[in-house]
Amino acid sequence: CAHPSAKPESAVSPYACQRRTTIDNHNKIFTDALDVVAENLEFSGNQGSSLAFKRAASVLKSLPAGLTRLEETQCLPCLGEHSRAIIEEIFECGSSSRVEEILNDERYRTMKLFSSVFGVGPKTAENWFCRGLRTFEQVLSEPSIRLNRMQTAGFLFYEDISKPVSRTEASALKIIVEEAVICVNPSATVNITGGFRRGKEFGHDVDFIIKTPEAGQEDVILPAVIERFKSQNILLYSDLQESTFDLRQLPTRCFEAMDHFSKCFLIVKLKREQETDATAGRDWRAVRVDLVAPPLERFTYALLGWSGSTLFERDLRRFARLERGKLLDNHVLYDKATNTFLPANTEEDIFAHLGLEYIEPWQRNA
Ligand code: ATP
Ligand code: MN
Ligand code: MN
Repeated sequence: CAHPSAKPESAVSPYACQRRTTIDNHNKIFTDALDVVAENLEFSGNQGSSLAFKRAASVLKSLPAGLTRLEETQCLPCLGEHSRAIIEEIFECGSSSRVEEILNDERYRTMKLFSSVFGVGPKTAENWFCRGLRTFEQVLSEPSIRLNRMQTAGFLFYEDISKPVSRTEASALKIIVEEAVICVNPSATVNITGGFRRGKEFGHDVDFIIKTPEAGQEDVILPAVIERFKSQNILLYSDLQESTFDLRQLPTRCFEAMDHFSKCFLIVKLKREQETDATAGRDWRAVRVDLVAPPLERFTYALLGWSGSTLFERDLRRFARLERGKLLDNHVLYDKATNTFLPANTEEDIFAHLGLEYIEPWQRNA
């Protein structure tokens, strides 16, 4: 096998949590194509095949250099016959006919458009598509469609929140969130998580995790921050989900994709220096912000879970379960062999419990 990674000591792992994936993607031409195929399969309800293409793309994202020949894929995990066919065509023609077809497909384009609205998932997007709707105008003028509160906000602020948030804007938001949090509880601290913690330059939102040293504070901090944003007239939308976390119900109530911590999904006004066409007549833009406030003793698991990427998290859990007989989620790490919860003060502790080399946040862009 021609690829340098064919050397056994440096073989690429099929688990994303055993690969170091920075934001420098040397195979973007291939991964963009594979991600389109994955997204299209997801839109048509084929979650399994979609995941296979996402895994193939993720392996390529971790490589230290761009592929130069198709043969180099022979020694890579997670690259099946279908992924290889797409890569081969890109090598030969510069693009993939399957991908071009998808990008021109009316169903794909409509699903992509509709699901780009905050609050509209694949189910709703499909429902609207099946009713013959193709544009936002058609959706908004269809009398039988009742938008929920989230979707209403999604359409209202569509132009602003569909534009990527920059790292500079994320830093400006951190100051606003920190100011509000400290005003409510001076001993609380704020950390940026999600894509920006992984070193991304742009994001679809900004994710923050709040650490409160006193027990019980995690339940009051988010409502208080929301109230403060309201009084500052910068809150455009808020969906507060109160904590349903109960340690006594573990481990039966855990190991789900979603967690039970107190969290909120917000749209806030961010002051901006220059006006653009989209923000003409106002000195702010709308930005999506997520806040999560776990109990102190759950902080490390929550931080790891909210740092992503989604595929990295998925593989971390899969690796723990299949290779180590341990169950990991945003709340705990549980050892099935000894029926015990494994303590962790840092993310390094969790990786160590799993017998994994530590992967830095900026290497988790799987
Ligand atoms: P982007 O830059 O597009 O925002 P991202 O990686 O930050 O990318 P998010 O959708 O913001 O993506 O999610 C960040 C992390 O938070 C992910 O790892 C995801 O698993 C986790 N997450 C998001 N929503 C929830 C939720 N409701 N419950 C638990 N975890 C969540
Ligand atoms: Mn995010
Ligand atoms: Mn988020």
